This record gives sequence, structure tokens and C-alpha cells, in this order.
Amino acid sequence: MIYVQALLLLVPFLLNKTVANATKYRLPDSTFPSHYVLRIEMNTDLGSSDNYTGQVTITIVVHYPTDLIVLHAAENLEIKQIILQALESGESVEVRSKERETETQFLKIYTEQMLNQSEQYQLTISFGGHMQRNRTGFFLEEYQKGEFYAVTVFEPIYARKAFPCYDEPMFKATFDVEVECGKDYSVHSNAELMEIQAVDGDRKLVRFERTPPMASYLVAFIISKFDEEVRDFDGLKIGMITPPNDQQEGDFEFAFRATWFSVDGLQNYTGQKYPFSKLDQVGIDYFFGGLENWGLILYITDALVVNSQADDWDKVESVRLIAHEVAHQFFGNLVGLTWWEHLWLKEGFATFMSFKLTREFLPEAWILINHQNFIDRWDALHFDAGPMTYPMSNYVESPEAIGVHYTAEIVYNKAASVIRMMEAALGEEVFKAGVQDYIANDRFGTADPYKLYLSLHRFAEHMLPLEAHVAEIFHSWATQAGHPVVHVEMIGESNYYRLTQRKYCDTWNCNGSRWWIPIFYSSYELGERFAGWFSDATDAITVVMDGDLPLVNNGGYGFYRVSYCQRGWEAIIKNWNRLDGIARAKLIDDAFALFWNHGNTFGPLKAMLQLLRTESDPLPWLAAMGDRTLGKLLHMVKGRSELEPIVQQLARNLTLDMLKLFRNDTRIESRRVRQRALVWDERLKLTNVRVGRTEIRFELCAQIMSPDFMVKLRCNAKFLIEMLQNADLEKCFSEPEDFDEFLDNLLENFECPEVLNVVLAELEMNNPASDQFVESLFDKLYNLQTSIDADQLDGFLKEVIHYIYKPHHQQLYRQFIDRLKVISEDQRSTLHHLLDLQQSRVDDILKELAEIRVSHPMLTNSQ
Ligand SMILES: [Zn+2]
Repeated sequence: MIYVQALLLLVPFLLNKTVANATKYRLPDSTFPSHYVLRIEMNTDLGSSDNYTGQVTITIVVHYPTDLIVLHAAENLEIKQIILQALESGESVEVRSKERETETQFLKIYTEQMLNQSEQYQLTISFGGHMQRNRTGFFLEEYQKGEFYAVTVFEPIYARKAFPCYDEPMFKATFDVEVECGKDYSVHSNAELMEIQAVDGDRKLVRFERTPPMASYLVAFIISKFDEEVRDFDGLKIGMITPPNDQQEGDFEFAFRATWFSVDGLQNYTGQKYPFSKLDQVGIDYFFGGLENWGLILYITDALVVNSQADDWDKVESVRLIAHEVAHQFFGNLVGLTWWEHLWLKEGFATFMSFKLTREFLPEAWILINHQNFIDRWDALHFDAGPMTYPMSNYVESPEAIGVHYTAEIVYNKAASVIRMMEAALGEEVFKAGVQDYIANDRFGTADPYKLYLSLHRFAEHMLPLEAHVAEIFHSWATQAGHPVVHVEMIGESNYYRLTQRKYCDTWNCNGSRWWIPIFYSSYELGERFAGWFSDATDAITVVMDGDLPLVNNGGYGFYRVSYCQRGWEAIIKNWNRLDGIARAKLIDDAFALFWNHGNTFGPLKAMLQLLRTESDPLPWLAAMGDRTLGKLLHMVKGRSELEPIVQQLARNLTLDMLKLFRNDTRIESRRVRQRALVWDERLKLTNVRVGRTEIRFELCAQIMSPDFMVKLRCNAKFLIEMLQNADLEKCFSEPEDFDEFLDNLLENFECPEVLNVVLAELEMNNPASDQFVESLFDKLYNLQTSIDADQLDGFLKEVIHYIYKPHHQQLYRQFIDRLKVISEDQRSTLHHLLDLQQSRVDDILKELAEIRVSHPMLTNSQ
């Protein structure tokens, strides 16, 4: 019965094609490509002009009779000539007319006669192109004075800027790539080099082998004078291609090994062979991270250069990125997406596999890797609780919406956490068998998540409750935004516990969502255990959990928060030192999150903060002393004379403890907490021990203030947020004008939806410039209102409410909302209502704080 219901829910997945036909930005499926011959002709000297010419011959198959071929070609392409021929007979088909559509970027070709079903045709389009300078599509970049290279970045929808094509992930085809250019340049593309022919003396034509069937967004080529180092690993030629500079012998040693380890590990895990005999890795300076082009991966150069001075921190960062991109060669490239809606399938698996591979490759750095994993999950939970979140599987269609869908917290980190949770619940071997089946079924094709669920179910069926289907379980996580809180209540003195589930929600979206929750628990004597599934059909279940102090989801496998009855919290506090660092950090993070959420957890929280004073593990400190935890509390009481000194005192005591414990701690996993301690020290103006560091922190200002740098970062919001966290903002913005300039610079030059995440992070940081930030922000945003996607703006406006606590700022915000032109009256009144709710929630929290302040030693004693 429930199984049937699950299948009904999943019908939209199966009907994808029909959905596609009915929608505005999707290509019709009347014709589809099976093969491309793509020829690009460049100037002899790359820097001399931005123009190039090209010709693409697409073999197309007709799905049903039509006189219209629709494909993509962006505005920067000039279509010069179109020739259509029947493949077999060679007879030409007259083209009646062509039409360009700006908004959809469609090129529509009408034919004189109907094209016959199941017949193949050859469509040849000659075109002229204009190379981009903004790092999308086919672009040109100067890396040294007067020296240029040209390279492609097509994911997700920029191949259409380089050549006419069916630019949707479902339309896979084989590609023969040919590039003509000056003879001094070298050319690389996805597949192996086939031949080089001399043309006109100073030019050459470079041709590549045929690729396997692949999506247009994975096509890639680079024309450059970069250095190249190639090594053979068991028949696979791995190349490192980087700008010529002072790279030393051996600098790539680590990246070579990490790459091969990843390829080998993924071949074993998936049971599939990497399909090329070469894998080129290109380094580009200031790149936003990595891009998984099949056989020709792009990276930020730093990720490939891990020399002898590198520490575990750099190594982990490098392997995580390499393993992620190599994982895509299988997840995303070999088995593709049916549509961007299911982006999480490739990004979630790549992130999940990269964690596995990094831990295997660098076993000595396991603490660092576990911490990173915990922090990723932590970020995801936080983002997923706010109004800007959306479901992992989220139907998107317009180019803007596809761009917004790449939010790291959801399609990368939440997806990886949910995948890891499913693996932990089903068992590693069963899960791997399901994944292998899924990949084997659709290799060189595309598959939606439903295919994965079915494969997993085949192997896991015997271990699930009678009524459960993997599809239904996974579906409850993939298609609902947000996540649950599981409340644990002890029943008497037995091993019986009553569990309830509800959605973790702040003041909005508290609908009745429910999930299929795997209940993991651990106890001191018994280790990690699985108590069974909490069905989405009910709010409450009773489970048996053995052991002395069974704590739910303490290993952090589940993507949910846990609250306890009072007896439960008391038992936790009593046994605090028997828990491991990750469990302690998780409990602190959950207790804070629940406290903001009417959780009555301030009692246990106080006790945990008291216990923190002797904590030697860095992770619980990071949990407690974060912008979302103690930082938020301090932010909240700012300017409230009766409470601010008390919370300040608490923060001071803890900061001094943190400095004492970690200042001379040289463990690599303590680096983050050392930095955090210094930031708090500076914020609270406690000591003057920051010798040598102030300068570095001040140097970051110059970069943050540079428009060029903002552009170069492209949409790397995470990187920018980290810089802001580490820069000495008080000094950077010592004059109000500096701050205005920064904000202008940010909003004008960081041109992507992620700019809103930077703004929110800045609001959250509670740095000395925060007040100023809030005050300037609204005017600036007012000017920007029409250029932000409506849904994004709506979520953002709601999210901002979380970070403004001062009555004066709330007043400013209300005025801003009233002035905004792009929102409806309904939205306006909702925002006012949410502000009222937030105000009363903050008042409640402050009242709660005021009541307990006298009784707690941490809040009253000074050191
Ligand atoms: Zn990725």
C-alpha cells in the first residue's frame, strides 16, 4: 500500500520528458543528437582578437516527424550558414527559415519538408564566435603580460556560448573535436590526441579521438603555452598542465599520487573502468575550485601544487578537491543527469566519495578530515533550517534558477550527508552493491534518482521493514526542504524510549513534514548501533536501545537534530567525559540550535559551557564559539545594558580558557580553534598576543577592497567569507567610507546569487563593523532589488530577520520593506509578521537569560 503511494509520489521523475515538452526553457525531444564534429579555428596569436570561427556538424535522430529542429546558441554566436542533409542518401533538405530567441537562447531551424521519424540527418552550422572574458563559455585570459590562453567552462549552461548544441544534460552524444591554431600553442581536449597536421606554415590543425557519449556541458578544450608533465600509472597517462612559472621538480608528486589513488579507488568502488587512456588536469590561477570536464579537469593551480612545505591541512584540501572531480568522471560523467533538478546526485556522490577517498589516502590526517566532514554537515543543517533552503531535488528551469541551484550547503553538503546516512543505515557493502548496479545499468546514459533508489532496494529489501521501500525513504529526504528533530524520552527505568519527530523550523514553514529516519544510537559500552527506522507515517514510536547511556545520532550519521527529556540531558551532562569530542561538539551545536527554536535547552547548555573550560578537543570549542552559537547570543544582547555585560563576561572567560588551552597547541587539527580564539580575543580586546598576525590580517583588507579580486573570485562565496572571517575588519573599515566602498564593490562586482550568502555571513559575524553594515546595507540593496531572482530575494528578506536584533535596526528594516517595490503586499505583510515573531522570540530568549543569570557561576564570576 505504502509502496504504491511511494510510486505515485515518484511519478514526476518518470514523466520528466513530458514535463520537458510543456515548459518554456526546455528543448523539445522531437530530435536529438547522436554525434558532433566540432571544429574551432583560432587566430594565430591568441591575444590579437577575441573572435574565432567554427563549424559544427551534428548527426541528429528524429524521434517523431517534425519540420522544426531546436537547439541552443547564445547571443554571442553569429550563425553564418546552415546545411541539412539526410545522412544515408546525402540528399539535402531545404532550410525554410531560422529564428533566434534571446531569453531561451534557442536557435530554431524550420525545414521545407517534414523530417522522417527514426531517420538520421546531418546538420552543419558555420558560425563566428566572440570569446568571453568572464570565465564562462569559451574564454580568453591573460596570465602573463601579453600571454594568453583560451579555455572552456561549460557547466551548467555555457556550451551554447561556444558552439550551437543541444545544451541539456540528457542529450548525450559522441564528440570529435578539432582545433586549428598557431603552431606554438598546445591544445588539449577531453579525448586523446589523434593527429596534428601542419596548415599554412605557422598554423596547425589538432584532432582528437572520439569521446564516449557525453553531455555538452562536459566538452572541454584549452589552447595555451602551459607547461606539461605526464606520468604513466598502470596504463593511464595523467597530465599536469599549468601556467609556466617557478614550479619546482616534484611539486606535482603529491597531486599525481592523489589523482591515481582516486581513479583506482573509484574504479574499484563503482566496478567501472575510467573510459579514456589519459586524464589531464589543468591548473588555472584564481579559479573557483574545480570543474570535472571528462578527461580534462580544471583546478585552481594551488590544488595541484602540494610541495615539501605543505602540511596536512593543504594536503587534505588538495585531495578533497581532486577526489571530488575524479569522482565526477563516474558520477555525473559516466552516468549523467536527466536534468539539473537532480544536480545533487552528482554533487552529493562526488562529495561523499571525496570524503571516503581522502580518509583512505591520508589516514594520518583522519582527525582533520572528520572535523571537516562534521563542519560541512553543520553548515548544511544551519542553511537547511533557514528560509533560503530548498529541497535537494528541486525543479529549476531558467538559466538564473539553474545557477542558484548550486548552493553548496544543499546539493553538495546536505546531499553528501544524506547519502552517508543511507550508507550507514543500509550497510557499506549493501550500499556499494546498489550503487554498482545503478552505474552499470545506465553507464554512458543518464539516470534520475529513482533509478538509484530501485538499485539500492534490490540489495536492501531484506533488511527494511515490511512496508518500506528505499525509494520512499530516500525520497522523503530528497524532496523536502529542511530536516527533522528527533525528541528522545526515557520511559521508566527500562530500555524503552519514546521517540517523536517534528520539523526543525524557526518561525516559518513549520508545516507537518515527516521523514523516514534511520535511528542510530551509541552507548559507552556497546558502540554504534542501529535501532531501526522511524516511519514517516507517524509522529511517535517506541524503540528499545541497549546500554547505559544510549545517545541518538551521536556519531552524526543522521541528517537530523536530537533533543532529550530533562532526565536525558542530565544523564548526558553527568557522563560528559565519557563521550568523544565529535559527540560533545554535536550536543553543544544541537543544544544551541534547539535553544533558538523554543527548545528549553539553556539549562544543559550552561552546564556544557561550564564543562568546556577543560575541554582539550578543538571541535566542541568550535561548536560553542561560533557565529551561530555564542557569537549569536552576544549579538543578540548587544546594547542591552542588563544582559550584555553578563554574556560578555561569559565570552571573556571562555576566550581566556581557549587561549590558555590552545595558544601553544601545535596539533594541526587545532589550527581552526587557535584562529577562532584570536578572533574572539580581538573582538573582546582581551590580550595583546597577536604578534605578527595583525599584519597578515590587515593585508587581507587590500584584497577584499579590490574590485578586480571580487571579479576573479567569481562565485566563490565560501572563500570570500573565510577571508572576511580572517581579516581585521575593524582596521579594514576604520572609516565609514571604507565600508561603503566595500559594500559597493561587493554588490557590483561579485555578480552571482551567492553574493546574498556573503551578505548574510557578514551579518552573522557580529564583527565591529556589523552595525555600520546593517545601516548601509538596506540602501544598497534597494538599488539592487530588480536584479535579484524573486524567490532568492524572498528567502533572503526572511533570512535577514534572523540577524537583526536591535530595535533600531528592526525599525530600519521595516522601513526598507515598506519602500521595496518588487515585493507584493502579501510578502510585505508576511515579513512584518515574521519580524514580530522574531522580536517576541528574541524577547523570550532574553527573558530566559535574565532569569538564570544569577544562578550560574560562569555568568557571574570573573577571572
Ligand atoms: Zn562537483
